[in-house]
Amino acid sequence: MAEPGYYPQGSRVSVMTSEPVGKPLDYLAPEGGCFPGAFVEVPLGPRRVVGVVWGPGDGRFAADKLRPVARVLDVPPMREELQQFLIRMADYTMTSRPGVLRLATRTPGLFEPPGARKIYRLGAGAPARMTEAREKVLAVLREHGGAGFYLMELAQLAGVTPQVVKGLVAQGAVIEAEQPRDLPYPRLDPHLPGKALSEDQAAAAAALRAGLGQFGVTLLKGVTGSGKTEVYLEAVAECLAKGQQALVLLPEIALTSEFLARVEARFGARPGEWHSGATQAERRRLWRMVAEGGAQMVVGARSALFLPYRDLGLIVVDEEHDSSYKQEEGALYNARDMAVLRASLAGAQVVLASATPSLESWANAEAGKYRRLDLLSRFGTADLPEMRAIDMREERIESVHWISPSLVGAVQATLSRGEQAMLFLNRRGYAPVTICRACGHQIGCDHCDARMVEHRFLKRLVCHQCGETKPIPTACPSCGVEGKLAPVGPGVERLAEEVAERFPTARTAVLSSDLFGSARALKEAVESIAGGGADIIIGTQIVAKGHNFPLLTLVGVIDADLGLQGSDLRAAERTFQLMRQVAGRAGRADKPGLALLQTCQPEHPVIRAILDGDEEAFWRAEAAGRKAVGVPPYGRMAGIILSGPEVAPLFELGNQLARNAAPLTRIGAQLFGPAPAPIARVRGRHRVRLLIKAEKSAPLQGAIRGWLRGVKFPTGVKLAIDIDPQSF
Ligand code: ADP
Ligand code: ZN
Repeated sequence: MAEPGYYPQGSRVSVMTSEPVGKPLDYLAPEGGCFPGAFVEVPLGPRRVVGVVWGPGDGRFAADKLRPVARVLDVPPMREELQQFLIRMADYTMTSRPGVLRLATRTPGLFEPPGARKIYRLGAGAPARMTEAREKVLAVLREHGGAGFYLMELAQLAGVTPQVVKGLVAQGAVIEAEQPRDLPYPRLDPHLPGKALSEDQAAAAAALRAGLGQFGVTLLKGVTGSGKTEVYLEAVAECLAKGQQALVLLPEIALTSEFLARVEARFGARPGEWHSGATQAERRRLWRMVAEGGAQMVVGARSALFLPYRDLGLIVVDEEHDSSYKQEEGALYNARDMAVLRASLAGAQVVLASATPSLESWANAEAGKYRRLDLLSRFGTADLPEMRAIDMREERIESVHWISPSLVGAVQATLSRGEQAMLFLNRRGYAPVTICRACGHQIGCDHCDARMVEHRFLKRLVCHQCGETKPIPTACPSCGVEGKLAPVGPGVERLAEEVAERFPTARTAVLSSDLFGSARALKEAVESIAGGGADIIIGTQIVAKGHNFPLLTLVGVIDADLGLQGSDLRAAERTFQLMRQVAGRAGRADKPGLALLQTCQPEHPVIRAILDGDEEAFWRAEAAGRKAVGVPPYGRMAGIILSGPEVAPLFELGNQLARNAAPLTRIGAQLFGPAPAPIARVRGRHRVRLLIKAEKSAPLQGAIRGWLRGVKFPTGVKLAIDIDPQSF
């Protein structure tokens, strides 16, 4: 850990790198010395790597054995608070410290001096001869303006060779420039007036504003359209007015552009934008400006938590219940929980906003750990739309059709009023299963334990687990019989066919994340629909998240039972949240909405709870169920995932671990498994999971460390620890 001070030339410093070398290594401070937290380049074997001066060296090695730091990099040092955050996060998530440091330092180009690389932007000239490759480059440039691209990044995104870009430079269609010193962002003006707030909005905004300046967590709950965003933007305004920085996390990149426009309307300028769709040059600029204070506000994905804020005053986690906040690869962490940790170290406020909070946050509010603020009604209207079940056991449905006569009737009535209808089916592609009618074989992914999903639009089969695609075969890969492969069940593409058949004159739009090449294409589709450019919207999960469609008054859920299958203890919570989010799309201001749920089990307690709309009753019942079996949020869990090319050694090791689990039993923890992991095979690697359940107060991480200490992992077998797993 860094101590305040300064390390003069030749003194020992310990440097943490993101290389998997375990401990920080000792070096000698370079000419001119260095400060704690300084970003430095150090020799490691034959290479030079970037690291952070973590603290004083420990004196284990004689000074003449140590190599000097090669160079101090020209960026602001990492603050003590961010170092502490990384340490605490590594300890909690049981990730290595280098592993978490990587999250904070992996922006490409970050440590190069300005001007070290050229950047490429759209020029005014037009190429004499247009080719497909050139068109691709120009399309990428038109789509993202901003700070420009590095050469290889641009070539890669456009799928062309760097020569194509150079050719466009020669023609003046692309400009090649020195990368400028990173410029501060235009100032956001927190004193511009916001909307006139309703009484409960104003009360919530005042409470949020009053909390600023110290750590605290508020659950801001209100149905979609109740004005949560409007309210937390008031807290952002106050935070900016105090001269502190604000971070807003969003679960979907697709929501960013809509949100940025809203911030611009509110504060007169656009905030910094941080997500995988932002260019490397933009990310570099934002990183530096966040550190130097030239960025007041950041809107981004979960990795924006690792930016080097100079003075962070507020973190908003919008749609806090969203499962995409959980990072499921590399360092496994939940950004919602890490936001709370980061804020506690920064003395900042956290706002968790949702119409359907996670049971975790709900329970924390119940326990008094979080403050809870409720926005009681939709802005301008009374409440959620009316919700009704369509009992599919009583509907007469032709085969290979999924829209019941009752739903068809409701859609027709809606269209005849000139309003929009939405049909929701949480399944991308054409059909979830392709089966051989000769032998019964189902086409699976060669690398995963998953069935291939037909995507007719792409004319390919796609594995939703690993992304592998293959052409749709004409003959069965198992029995070789021709012409017997048939799609089974609906995806949104197939549903669109049925819609076209039943409503031939209606204009339809399919919203599915895989059908849009870019965030901008999706945004344009959403804007067109919002403006009345479609009569029937057919969509997957992405329609549940935050887009506003003012003409939409009917939502039909094609299969409300879909999420309730399987044994996951979170299934009820997820289905409840998703159904309410989707239903919340229907009806606005003056037009009442209706949501119809097609179900084969209208008496199921979860379906009943959705229809009754008694959330508190649902949460209490769900909480009681979880309490009874001691699972989160009333107990703690961890998953131990073993993966490798062969399955047998994984079970062997898993069983051996299970037999030698004294450190776990000592803290009263229970161990389940080994069993195939929820995703049992991905990219050719088998996955086996052990699940640990402990009491809430049990020192789980310490016990797991003791348990795994000294365990020999066979070559090729990898271990991942998943604290607070999503499924259990
Ligand atoms: P939520 O975040 O809860 O879904 P929003 O803040 O997006 O709700 O509000 C929904 C819509 O209602 C937005 O278009 C917003 O601008 C509008 N709105 C909310 N509160 C007000 C208000 N006090 N005055 C005017 N418009 C409002
Ligand atoms: Zn696969």
